[in-house]
Amino acid sequence: MADPKGFLTTDREVAATRPVEERVGDWDEVYVPGSLLPIIGKQAGRCMDCGIPFCHNGCPLGNLIPEWNDYAYRGDWAAANERLHATNNFPEFTGRLCPAPCESACVLGINQPAVTIKNVEVTIIDKAWEAGRVTPQPPERLSGKTVAVIGSGPAGLAAAQQLTRAGHTVAVYERADRIGGLLRYGIPEFKMEKRHINRRIEQMRAEGTRFRTGVEVGRDITAKDLRKRYDAVVIAAGATTARDLPVPGRELAGIHQAMEYLPLANKVQEGDLMTPPITAEGKHVVVIGGGDTGADCVGTAHRQGAASVTQLEIMPRPGEDRLAHQPWPTFPMLYKVTSAHEEGGERVYSVSTTRFEGDEDGNVRWLHLVEVEFTDGKLVQKEGTERRIPAQLVTLAMGFTGTDRENGLVDQFGLELDPRGNIARDAEYATNVPGVFVAGDAGRGQSLIVWAIAEGRAAARGVDRMLTGGHSDLPYPIRPTDRALTV
Ligand SMILES: Cc1cc2nc3c(=O)[nH]c(=O)nc-3n(C[C@H](O)[C@H](O)[C@H](O)COP(=O)(O)OP(=O)(O)OC[C@H]3O[C@@H](n4cnc5c(N)ncnc54)[C@H](O)[C@@H]3O)c2cc1C
Ligand code: SF4
Repeated sequence: MADPKGFLTTDREVAATRPVEERVGDWDEVYVPGSLLPIIGKQAGRCMDCGIPFCHNGCPLGNLIPEWNDYAYRGDWAAANERLHATNNFPEFTGRLCPAPCESACVLGINQPAVTIKNVEVTIIDKAWEAGRVTPQPPERLSGKTVAVIGSGPAGLAAAQQLTRAGHTVAVYERADRIGGLLRYGIPEFKMEKRHINRRIEQMRAEGTRFRTGVEVGRDITAKDLRKRYDAVVIAAGATTARDLPVPGRELAGIHQAMEYLPLANKVQEGDLMTPPITAEGKHVVVIGGGDTGADCVGTAHRQGAASVTQLEIMPRPGEDRLAHQPWPTFPMLYKVTSAHEEGGERVYSVSTTRFEGDEDGNVRWLHLVEVEFTDGKLVQKEGTERRIPAQLVTLAMGFTGTDRENGLVDQFGLELDPRGNIARDAEYATNVPGVFVAGDAGRGQSLIVWAIAEGRAAARGVDRMLTGGHSDLPYPIRPTDRALTV
């Protein structure tokens, strides 16, 4: 146990953020560098040896949270890092980006603010990198078996690292020009600086994983060729088909999917572009969709110098306390103020977009909306509430409907889909096609980084068992049907 009285003597404290006026002027992470170090030992000491750590179930990776809290409290950062990596390949990603369902399940959270688990996680891994403790772990011997991983997001990277370390020869195929999936081109620099991905890729290369960028499976190489060349395939292609908004005026210039807008800002940060071809500079920006992708558009628009930013959400504003049907230790839907929201803009709830209005040149100028409410379980428009708001750049952040069907990947492999349109898989992450597995958003639907890593690790075990004829030393953290306590 960390500090027996820690939860009685220490209040919860989280990472300090830089002043808004400073951080909107750059793209660096929003946190004050080094602000966690002086406080994190005491914060870890709030972990109270509750007996049944529900945080284990809250975390899809089953992270060994009380164990590393104890080591962090005692200042044994090497041991903390070893326990952290026992269940998580990339804690620097989750420690920065995870919504921390573990904290919603923390026993202390029943009647006090939960332990700041995510901040402890990121401190352990940042210190480990700094101290040179994160080193390549190449396999002792090669199995002679080969695996192709399609997609280099967190699911593909986790699967590839596990399989490489198990001795298989792994190649990751990525259609984009850089490795990382949504970590690279979706999530903005101010949420996670891309140097964190780059040094992991270096570690993976040194372990023996091969990376092939700019290759789209289905277009540049067929499924048949891939199956001929490799003993097994892991599909970790994400759920990149964006939901659209087919209302009048959708064809006007200036209306873009979030994933058309965000990657360009990221490409500027990578040094590929001087200025983004789609920019919010000087414009009235409207973001449709109240989730995390929408918040990333808001933060990006602030940094590009938008004249105003409005985020629209069709659902009512969530409350600040748990609802009766979302009791502890489940992950509740609560009103969240992200760093992007702290920086400005307006959030409007319970509204639906009815049409866009443009100027004579075909550029969007106004967005027409109407208020909506739930009546008999259905969302209905409230009469007399129609209005228009200025909109010179509109980003659509309304979620994703499944894996890309255009490039032929699904059809060429002959993959079955589940009723939600995701690639169907069994308890070992195997698809209906022998030797072909699926992990992450491609099989689960749009989800979280922590789930992608958990599924990548679990699918790797399924592949390893198939390749070795039934045995695997790789851990099997979670089944596709498990929901843990989270989303
Ligand atoms: C803007 C945005 C912000 C987000 N923020 C967060 C956050 O803060 N925290 C969080 O937990 N989650 C967040 N998410 C969700 C999270 O990013 C995803 O759940 C996660 O990245 C899924 O991982 P994945 O590996 O399954 O797929 P992805 O990350 O989508 O990676 C799939 C990769 O496969 C490649 N690919 C697809 N088809 C092919 C093909 N045929 N051949 C070769 N390559 C192919 C794609 O180019 C892509 O690089 C966010 C999502 C978005 C869109
Ligand atoms: S990965 Fe997410 S859920 Fe798991 S311990 Fe870290 S912050 Fe919590």
